[in-house]
Amino acid sequence: MVKFYNSLTRQKEEVPCHENRTVKMYTCGPTVYYYPHIGNFRAYLFMDNIRRVLKYNGYKLDGVMNITDVGHLTSDADEGEDKMLIASQREHKSPWEIAKFYTDIFFQDAKSLNIDMPEHIIPATSVIKEMIDFVKVLLEKGYAYETSKGIYFDIAKFKDYGKLSGMNIEEKLAGARIDVDEEKRSPYDFVLWVKAPKEHIMQWESPWGMGYPGWHIECSVIGDKYLGESIDIHTGGVDHKPVHHENEIAQSDCHYGHKVVKMWMHLEFLQIDGGKMSKSLNNIYRLADLKERGYSPDDFRFFYFLAHYSKQQNFTFEALDMARNTLRSIKNLVKEHKNGTKRIDTSNYENEFLQAINDDLNMPKAIACMQKMLKEERSKDVYNTFVKFNQVLGLNMDNLVENNIPDEIKHLAEKRWNAKKNRDFAKADDLRNQLLSLGYEIKDNKDGFEILKK
Ligand code: AMP
Ligand code: ZN
Repeated sequence: MVKFYNSLTRQKEEVPCHENRTVKMYTCGPTVYYYPHIGNFRAYLFMDNIRRVLKYNGYKLDGVMNITDVGHLTSDADEGEDKMLIASQREHKSPWEIAKFYTDIFFQDAKSLNIDMPEHIIPATSVIKEMIDFVKVLLEKGYAYETSKGIYFDIAKFKDYGKLSGMNIEEKLAGARIDVDEEKRSPYDFVLWVKAPKEHIMQWESPWGMGYPGWHIECSVIGDKYLGESIDIHTGGVDHKPVHHENEIAQSDCHYGHKVVKMWMHLEFLQIDGGKMSKSLNNIYRLADLKERGYSPDDFRFFYFLAHYSKQQNFTFEALDMARNTLRSIKNLVKEHKNGTKRIDTSNYENEFLQAINDDLNMPKAIACMQKMLKEERSKDVYNTFVKFNQVLGLNMDNLVENNIPDEIKHLAEKRWNAKKNRDFAKADDLRNQLLSLGYEIKDNKDGFEILKK
């Protein structure tokens, strides 16, 4: 039985599903106004992890992710400017060009990390009509009201508001400052549709004049359109819990008159220097930065497995080095097992691995089990079991090439790679020839280099 921790009920529960063991899953996607960073990719590796574990257990996936290309203001709570417009001014491009550029980069990075992507990936701007219809229903049912600035959701009408994040809304209201928009009934009412000033670049016709959607509405609408009124799992980072996800729950549940999402799953942050890695704090690393320093996407994927998703994970290059070295030795061992002759019954390892992943994605325990198995005498049975485990791990298996490469050769190859990166091509060629004369060939690839024994 697969059990995950449900942030809403605050307990581990069996995974819900639909007919044919199909799990309908929604993941909050990227806001495409800048390069995605490795903290964001911790969130998408988390999604990948859930999807692969469910598939390993015989479930089918019907997954959806939104791409936010309109309406996400600099604060999640409807304040500031639209992030897409800030980017558009910064780069002197239209918001559409910005969205295309950063969406493409998001897809490229996700591909190189081998992320098992959802079946539907939907930009917010493709469902403007559906958003308007959804807001109309909320107005008709009395959950929303109009001001001179836009249409707002009236949180007083939804008794469960604040339940997910455990906030006491009455206490919060008592301490709240006067909101900038005095027409709002409560400072925590959030915007569904914004009436746009004339100069606003992205705007659409609506029954309330020209305008654009609030950020939260897209997830309710895309979830509704592609998954319907019952969603099994909804994922996102912990930052989304207190505002974005509370708002999504309020919109969707009031729209349908019943609970829409059964299980909420939240991922803790990738930290750096004791704080959150984020674009706004300017302390981010991209996948490209890691590649430039000679790390492969697989190294970062493996790094993800070393902490439980519900715990913060601190990013340092020392920790990434450790992940890379462990991964290299794992790949070397796997290669050795491939040619092993001993017969080994691996069923105990298979059970232990399955128990770990099915217990709320305990990846550190699953990895430890896999490493224990690799210490067995060299055996093709171990290799075959590793291949099976790799359906969950998603590591690049073409890369098992560093078998028995002596440390001095690896060292020379690293030196050559650094020389090449520093554009010292003469030195890089020298080192390549030196390696050739020692019987090793270097092949560069998109993730770095491989050492091949001639
Ligand atoms: P954004 O593109 O900012 O809307 O974020 C996309 C996803 O990345 C969301 O699920 C966030 O919760 C998540 N996220 C942002 N920063 C981090 C971080 N430092 N660690 C883990 N997840 C993050
Ligand atoms: Zn969302």
